[in-house]
Amino acid sequence: MGWVKIGEIAEQAGLQLTPVSRYRPDQVKADHCPFCGDIKGNLELNLDKDLFHCWACDSKGGVIAFYAKLHGLSDTEAKQKLYPHHRARKLHPAERLTTAQLQEIGFQSLHRHQTKPARMSHAEWAAYRTRQLDWIWQTWCEHVQAEQEIERRLARLFATQEQHPHTLQSVNEHWMKEA
Ligand SMILES: [Zn+2]
Repeated sequence: MGWVKIGEIAEQAGLQLTPVSRYRPDQVKADHCPFCGDIKGNLELNLDKDLFHCWACDSKGGVIAFYAKLHGLSDTEAKQKLYPHHRARKLHPAERLTTAQLQEIGFQSLHRHQTKPARMSHAEWAAYRTRQLDWIWQTWCEHVQAEQEIERRLARLFATQEQHPHTLQSVNEHWMKEA
């Protein structure tokens, strides 16, 4: 998968680019800024690092932000347009749980955007994340099983009750025996 260059996007958008100085061919200025209308060359692009910055309106960012801003898209939409074949990483089943489901088992969120501590290698970090997700998934499965067990007991309890109406006392006794 090739990465889209900021220079290509600028040219597609009709911007005329000229180097800021002959010593820095990668640093270019645009004839106009499509975001604020500046025509004094305040919009600069770094073709090497794929960054833009307008000194007049302070718009700045990378390729995706540039494309998103030019076409009035969100960053996610821009990414989709620029890299339509880029597949999302396969999700762990725990990552498919909704926030409400996670809260049911006592997790506030999955911290999807947790960052790797500097002391961990990428492999250690991946292993740590997998253990964490496995543990959440196991907790969820146990929770579902426990709920099903409660439902089965309640169903048995009500079935008995319909055949022989009990007093509240005996229902409680029955429940205690079952538990
Ligand atoms: Zn501007």
